[in-house]
Amino acid sequence: MSFSADIITLFPELFPGPLGASVLGRGLNEGLWSLRANQLRDFAHDRHRTVDDTPSGGGAGMVLKSDILASAIDTIAPSTDRRPRILMSPRGTPLTQAKARTLAQGPGIVIICGRFEGVDQRVIEARNLEEISIGDYVLAGGETAAMVLLEAIVRLLPGVLGAPESHADESFENGLLEYPQYTRPQLFEDAEIPAILTSGDHGKIAKWRREQSEKITRERRPDLLK
Ligand code: SAH
Repeated sequence: MSFSADIITLFPELFPGPLGASVLGRGLNEGLWSLRANQLRDFAHDRHRTVDDTPSGGGAGMVLKSDILASAIDTIAPSTDRRPRILMSPRGTPLTQAKARTLAQGPGIVIICGRFEGVDQRVIEARNLEEISIGDYVLAGGETAAMVLLEAIVRLLPGVLGAPESHADESFENGLLEYPQYTRPQLFEDAEIPAILTSGDHGKIAKWRREQSEKITRERRPDLLK
């Protein structure tokens, strides 16, 4: 069984979007992973297909209703479904490469995209939703956040990006940021490719890259070294 993603959203037409391009799109076409974008409104039960209501206690905006969202979850991912249920949320645990890797090793994912002021707290608790944030800023909706999460996961799936060793050196995989990359031409404006990279000495190249990684991480993200 390949990795299977279900999205619950008011804007299913946004998917696959960028996930349909390049190697992720090829992987989707080849069945290395699957994606279904479900319209939350299809689970509303009134004539106007209402999915939201005003916040209890007052204040601006609207809140996604717990009963409608619960019906959607129970239909798309009943309790026998082993896939984790993620709610995209600025209050969630910040997304990391380690989390993407863990999720890529599982059976798939069910992602709920919030809109407006967010979702009723009771459905988060009743359906055991795990909240994940993609960073300390506020988006208008969970759809682009869901794409970020899925893109980070799907590129790690076997067969999607080719050689698995192409991940080993990447930023965050070993707790460091990546070393600088170069390619031809040998001379660009006044800048040469560092001579060591064209020396053919693989031991020296590995050592140089490691030192560069450490230097860049120290300068830019000392928090990663802790
Ligand atoms: N009132 C909320 C923000 C709602 S933004 C608050 O202050 O926390 C509307 C929706 O966009 C959210 O329900 C969530 O699904 C999504 N969203 C916004 N920012 C996000 C972020 N940084 N990470 C993940 N999802 C986010």
